[in-house]
Amino acid sequence: MKLSIQARAKINWTLDVVGTLPNGYHDLDMLMQSVTLCDQLTIEDAPECTLSVRMQGGYVPADGSNLVLRAARALQEATGETRGARMTLRKYIPVAAGMGGGSSDAAAALKGLNVLWNLGLTDERLEEIGLTIGADVPFCIRGGLQRARGVGERLTPLPLKRPLYLVAFQPCRGLSTKEVFAALHEEGIDPADRPDNDAAQRALASGDVRLLGRSMGNVLEPVSRRLRPQLDEAIRAIGESGALGARMTGSGSAVFGVYAHAGDCKRAAQQLMQAYPACRMMRTAECGVVITREA
Ligand code: ATP
Repeated sequence: MKLSIQARAKINWTLDVVGTLPNGYHDLDMLMQSVTLCDQLTIEDAPECTLSVRMQGGYVPADGSNLVLRAARALQEATGETRGARMTLRKYIPVAAGMGGGSSDAAAALKGLNVLWNLGLTDERLEEIGLTIGADVPFCIRGGLQRARGVGERLTPLPLKRPLYLVAFQPCRGLSTKEVFAALHEEGIDPADRPDNDAAQRALASGDVRLLGRSMGNVLEPVSRRLRPQLDEAIRAIGESGALGARMTGSGSAVFGVYAHAGDCKRAAQQLMQAYPACRMMRTAECGVVITREA
């Protein structure tokens, strides 16, 4: 059997830190959204697990530290499965960008191998295994629009009135999540930077993009902007292109903008691509992983 799997990126409409968990991690409150930008993972029967990575520019390891191979190993350990899989990953999601690229690849591997190996695990069980690999993996398994609490694993699905159109790109070098949270710890949070999660949630449910734009926010953005000053210019450029909201996603360093209509978004993407060739137009997606059977 050969499966072709889309591993979709995510953006954060909002990201707030609302406390500290008993284990010392930050207690987050976020609105997370799958988008159509995706990596492609193909998997087929093989005696051992192997991975090759194809990408233009940038680098991710193809060894045992790649989240795809870590996911395969975690699934084998959880189930006692001894079969392998030949896996090929084509990367299109920017790396260390806050778009959940590695997490989505891990989610795609878990869901795909569950089918290839005929394991019959529920998504809930895959989410538990996924959480041992990364905090964003459970979201990537569920996908769509979710309110996420805890480290991002306590998920509540939410309605989205209509598909929304976005641009996103990474205007500078990547940022490590660890580095950004360490800097936040030093600098603290200005209450003015907090998003209005409830208003953003209402805006998404009613399709009010103006209210969404006003309610969006990311408490990590000021810290990341200081670490990568190019973010200022990129967010300003998105705002000037007609976006109703322009923000950084996750811990960065990708930024995105949301528009009232597909046509506005298309014109903005064409304009932004002149200064930022990596700029891509995308749409909100209803799930994080899409599996197609090839043979
Ligand atoms: P998140 O949004 O979940 O915080 P991110 O988008 O900031 O994640 P990733 O692109 O997932 O970050 O990559 C973070 C690190 O993980 C990179 O430094 C990379 O070397 C490593 N990595 C391991 N496997 C992968 C993978 N399949 N794709 C991307 N990066 C990977």
